[in-house]
Amino acid sequence: APGTDPGGPDELPVRDELRGKSPYGAPQLDVPVRLNTNENPYPLPEPLVARIAERVADAARSLNRYPDRDAVELRTGLAEYLTRTTGHPVGRAQVWAANGSNEVLQQLLQAFGGPGRTALGFEPSYSMHALIARGTGTGWLSGPRRDDFTIDTDAAVRAVTEHRPHVVFVCSPNNPTGTAVDADTVLALYEAAQAARADSGGALVVVDEAYGEFSHGASLLPLIEGRSRLVLSRTMSKAFGAAGLRLGYLAAAPAVVDAVQLVRLPYHLSAVTQATALAALEFTDTLLGYVEQLKAERDRLVAELRAAGCEVTDSDANFVQFGRFTDAHAFWRRLLDEGVLVRDNGVPGWLRVSAGTPAENDAFLDAVRKLMKENA
Ligand code: PMP
Repeated sequence: APGTDPGGPDELPVRDELRGKSPYGAPQLDVPVRLNTNENPYPLPEPLVARIAERVADAARSLNRYPDRDAVELRTGLAEYLTRTTGHPVGRAQVWAANGSNEVLQQLLQAFGGPGRTALGFEPSYSMHALIARGTGTGWLSGPRRDDFTIDTDAAVRAVTEHRPHVVFVCSPNNPTGTAVDADTVLALYEAAQAARADSGGALVVVDEAYGEFSHGASLLPLIEGRSRLVLSRTMSKAFGAAGLRLGYLAAAPAVVDAVQLVRLPYHLSAVTQATALAALEFTDTLLGYVEQLKAERDRLVAELRAAGCEVTDSDANFVQFGRFTDAHAFWRRLLDEGVLVRDNGVPGWLRVSAGTPAENDAFLDAVRKLMKENA
């Protein structure tokens, strides 16, 4: 009866599309070697920890007040970071920040998707794109990839032309495969998406570059120039080693930034978050040094996994997709029994491992070699 304790959400009047669904999330297991969530394995350096404490103490002195609603200082810092690392000039008015790039993507779909609209992504890809679509009432369309997980530009353009999505997601480097997408493909998709929706103001193309700093190639950021419907999304969770901070951001035309302000909650970015992110930006060079180490470790994982007899997808990210297993989940289990936690993203035959410290990667590789020998 109404008023008694419901057993679960399905017994509540939740939205139909949420019925019987499970929340997103990798298992958080207590295992010696955890390489399952694409985190940066390096804790923040002590001088940065001290600087965060200083900046947060400062912020604490005015916590009786709401934070800077427009996060002006932080957005200026992020714009400078993007300008310096991509060589492409970006101004504060082109940058927006939120609590993780997941929130950035959610705000984009709240503003440009929603009921009666659709978003399309090329799968397998970051599964939150589809889940955020569902959460915002946006219809989801699955676009194709080749068997090697690259995007076939012609097939992708055909999917966009046929389905006429309001929002197109391009994840580069792509999670969980590690695959980078080249500028020509993004440009072809952009043109196709604008043409398909020419009668209704065009379509938004979102390039999710959460792992951009780990790429062998250049950022796709310069493509936003002169393309008012192209958005580049980034995060401090990976390259900055600050997944716990929850800070994501986008770069786009100022009009896109104006649009997301229509849906953002007032004061969504706490003063503590803004202070911490600003401290991290002061240590950009040190943190990008760790990125270089992780890139070298990523390349080592690719080479050693291949030497061990695995199939490996080329990676531009801080993780590597490896296989091919007749029963990927069984291999995942056996690695867990060896004390190594990797990720089973549900891509048939494949698993994903995040680049850890050299010692963690050695432990992972030793376990794989052992299991591959047992398999042979
Ligand atoms: N995009 C991609 C492709 C990701 O893999 C992730 C994190 N797993 C995110 C966005 C979201 O990260 P965050 O919210 O921590 O910025």
